[in-house]
This record gives sequence, structure tokens and C-alpha cells, in this order.
Amino acid sequence: MPKETAFKLTYATMFNPPEELHTRFEDALTKVKANLGKEHTMLIGGKERKAKATFEDRSPINTDWVLGVFQQGDEHDAADAIAAARAAFPAWSGCSWQERLALLRKAADLIDERIYEFGAVIALEVGKNRMEALSDAAEAADLIRYACDQINANSGFIKKMGEDPLQGFKAVNYSVLRPYGVWLIVSPFNFPAALTGGPAGAALAAGNTIVIKPASDTPWTSRLLADCFRDAGLPDGVVNYVTGPGRTLGQALIDNPDVDGITFTGSFDVGMGIYRSFAQGSYVRPTILELGGKNPAIVSKNADIEEAALGIVRSAFGLQGQKCSACSRVYIERPVYQKILSRVVELTNKLAIGDPTDRSVYLGPVVNKNSYADFQAYIKEINEAGGRFLTGGKILTDGDFDKGYFCAPTIVVDLPMDHRLWKQEMFVPITTLTQVETLEEAMGYANDVGYGLTAGFYGSLDEAQWFFENIRAGVTYANRPQGATTGAWPGFQPFGGWKGSGSSGKNAGGLYYVQLYMHEQIQTLIQKS
Ligand code: NAP
Ligand code: MG
Repeated sequence: MPKETAFKLTYATMFNPPEELHTRFEDALTKVKANLGKEHTMLIGGKERKAKATFEDRSPINTDWVLGVFQQGDEHDAADAIAAARAAFPAWSGCSWQERLALLRKAADLIDERIYEFGAVIALEVGKNRMEALSDAAEAADLIRYACDQINANSGFIKKMGEDPLQGFKAVNYSVLRPYGVWLIVSPFNFPAALTGGPAGAALAAGNTIVIKPASDTPWTSRLLADCFRDAGLPDGVVNYVTGPGRTLGQALIDNPDVDGITFTGSFDVGMGIYRSFAQGSYVRPTILELGGKNPAIVSKNADIEEAALGIVRSAFGLQGQKCSACSRVYIERPVYQKILSRVVELTNKLAIGDPTDRSVYLGPVVNKNSYADFQAYIKEINEAGGRFLTGGKILTDGDFDKGYFCAPTIVVDLPMDHRLWKQEMFVPITTLTQVETLEEAMGYANDVGYGLTAGFYGSLDEAQWFFENIRAGVTYANRPQGATTGAWPGFQPFGGWKGSGSSGKNAGGLYYVQLYMHEQIQTLIQKS
């Protein structure tokens, strides 16, 4: 956020922004829209790089809008990017951590300075509403700062250990966390700033050099990030940025034996494939996987109906259900079931759908043709299984809607409890609700999936404690109207998942995250006394 305002933008505060934020977003949007369709290059070893072929980045809001033309990198570009990162590693890891942090903090400040440009690009590229788009960029800056703060608070992770008592010698023992080397960052479309900038910031603060491979739906946002790192003065080759298909370019990066570690954020299936490919190397290398979710909310008969309904609707349909933390299933105790249903439907029917760069719009389109087709296939499947739509259940094609991928936010009841869609991540604006007789029954369902990312609860304080103790998920919330299952911020709600939702067991933007990017060396020095 610009320094002149005291307002702190996060996903939780974004519902009441100051007016200035809107005018500045609109100015930036006008400028960005006047510059659409330009060709963008990759960045390898500090040099702008073109590939043999290019691809178009079109907006899901209106597929006539070509946002930019991007390079379709191949295996040679992958090899060169990794070689550039390797060449830059000795100097970057060899400079003091204080010097590294100073440059990274500058990069974070540049993101803040350019936040309205980021916001406009993210809104157009992802189809995110303006507040979510701005928050994504603000989170990227704060994630970078948080990694720096952790290194600083731990004095660079250089710690004196005990001195083992030796006769005739003096022992000095140090524990030092040191970077691995070249780190690969493969990021998803849905938080193109935070989920590229966050891991990048941690890897770099730890002293690694990096290669960034963004999702092909959102290459522009990551290019803006790479520019911030370059403009902050990070040496050439410390941050490399390549674009192209995951299946070819991405796979070539994963298969390169000179990669020392990976952070992949994306779907379970792709992540598991990457995990298995990366294991083909000659020894075990760190693999940080942040994967999907199937996030439940549980509503007790003691819940505040309004808080619960608001939280459910915001988490189910924010970013069109395309958050890894989206609330996709809800278990409600019988005495409040009807009340919750009718309020959830009422609130959903009030959501404004359209061009998400418009101030009044909450819901934009889904990200691409595949998601649009997925939505329609799920609707058909739910319908055939006997599920009922209390609202939604269709795509929107009136007027300008037919230029983009617009889907009505959809509330489903009566889906048989053994149906596969109770357990599968859909990643579109569909959520399924059911009633339960007891909270234990709800907890049984909530935990009976392969994922364990986020979960929400509404009820009494005692029940909330019971929920925290029994739910198997990495990020949990109780009685939160800002979002039943969504909401993350470095230092507030570090984000990560259990089971099939994540590999490290430590949350990004938290106390134990930046350490994942370093291996420990014990330095024992003996002198004769
Ligand atoms: P995705 O399809 O799995 O793609 C993620 C990234 O992997 C993209 O950059 C993609 O490139 C690349 N990729 C695909 N195949 C690859 C391969 N063989 N080798 C290397 N890279 C490859 O995911 P998405 O649709 O962008 O994102 C949505 C998913 O991410 C959801 O499942 C969501 O739950 C998950 N997610 C998890 C978190 C979390 O923190 N746990 C956060 C956000 C999202 P292309 O775009 O070129 O295919
Ligand atoms: Mg696109």
C-alpha cells in the first residue's frame, strides 16, 4: 500500500477501502488497457530473451482482449535459465544476509509503488475483482518482507551452540543454515503475484538463486514481479523468468539435474507428477508442494446465522470458487439448516457478476475455456445424480457475458453423500450443502477426504475449541464472517495444508517457512587450549 495512507490492505480488510484506492486503481486500469497486446520477453541472466514461438495471453473477461504476447520457451531456454541461476549463485549466497535483505526489501517496496499497475494486470489476466487483485500484489510484497523479517529475527540463522567439554582443547560449535543453490518456482494462475513472489522472496532471502515459471494463463503478473526484483538491483541471473507450457518447458525445468529444490503450487495431480519426476534425480532434493483443497465449513446449531452465511458465501464464491481455500462443502446442524440455506441463497443472489474491474462487481469469469467446460460438466453430473440447485446451475451468456467465461454462483443440496464430488476439488463457483444430526457426524465427513488445506466453523466458543482440536487441516477459522475457509496473510494466517494439500507441514508466511529453503551445516572448530 502507498505509504501516505494508514489503511492496511489485506483480504480481511478489503471490504472497506478508502476512496483513493478506487481512483488510483481506475487510473492504472486506463493506462494498462491503453497498452494491451505488446510482446513480452523472458528474462535469463539479466538479458531479455525471445523464444522460437510465442503465445497470446487473453483475458477471461473478454477473450477478444489480447493482453500481451508471451514467449513459448523450450528446453534450451530452460537449460539456459538454470545455468544463469547457477552462475549467479556463488556471489548471491556469498554476500551477507544483510545485503540480500536490503535488496529484497527494496523489491517489496517497488511492488507497493506499482501496486495499482499490478492490480489492473491481475484483474484482467485472472478475472479477479479489483480488491482481490490489489490484495494479491500486497500479499506478495508482505510475503517477501516476512521472509526477510524471519532471517533478521534469527540473525541470519547463524547460531552458536554449546561447547562440548574436551580435555586440552577448546571447542566452538556453530549451526548455520545455508542455501541449497538453484531453486525452481512453478506457480498457479489464481494468485499469480503472491504465490510467485512469496516463494521467490523466501528462496532469495535464504540465499538461493531462482527460476520462475508462471502459469500460462498469467505470465504478465510474474513478469511485473521479475521487473521489481531487477529494478531493486538484484544482480543478473539471481532471478530468471521463463514462460511456456508446463508440460514441455515446465517438465524440462523439473528434469534438469542442476535444480537443487522446487516450490510447486498448483493442482494435486500435476504436483504429484512433479514430485515423482523430481525423485528420479540421483539423490533426494527438497520439494515444497502446495496443492489443492476440498475445504469444509461446519455450522453448529449455536452459530450466528448471519456471520456463518456471510462467511460461507464469501469463501465459496470469492474469485469464482477458484481459491485453493474455497469453501466447497458445508455441513449444517439440523435446527439451523433451513435458516442458513435461505440466507446463503439470498446473499448469493445479491452478488454482482460481470467485468471484475468494475467497482461494483464481486464475481468475474472463471479463468479459461477448460474451467468453463468443467463447470458445465459438473452441473450436468450433479443434476444427473439428483442434486438440486437452489441458485445458479448455469453459465451466463447474455450480452457481453458471451465474450468471457461467466458462470453463475451455484448452491447445491441433496447431492448423495457418497457422490464423488463431495471429495473432489472442482475449482469453479459450486458449493454443496447438507444437514447433519450432530457435530461429530459433520467432523467425520469434514476429515474424510484426501485433502487438508483449510476449514471453517461457526458455533459456541467451546465448540470452536473442539473443532480446532479435531479438524485435520493446516489453516482453520472459527466464527469468521470475512470468510469461512479463506483468508491468509503473512504473520497473521500463514498458509499451508496437511495430507494431499501440502508436503512440508509448515505454512508459507509463518515462523517455520524460510528455513525450508536452507540446509543446516554444523561447524565445529577445535583449538588447543
Ligand atoms: P496447475 O494446472 O496444476 O498448474 C500449476 C503450474 O504448473 C502452472 O504453472 C503449470 O503451467 C505448471 N505445470 C503443469 N504441468 C507441469 C509439468 N509437467 N511440469 C512442470 N510444471 C507444470 O494448477 P492451476 O490450475 O494453475 O492452479 C489451480 C490449482 O492450484 C488448484 O488445484 C489449487 O487448489 C491449487 N493451489 C494451491 C495453493 C496452495 O497454497 N495449496 C494455492 C493456490 C492454488 P501451465 O499453466 O503452462 O500448464
Ligand atoms: Mg489469460
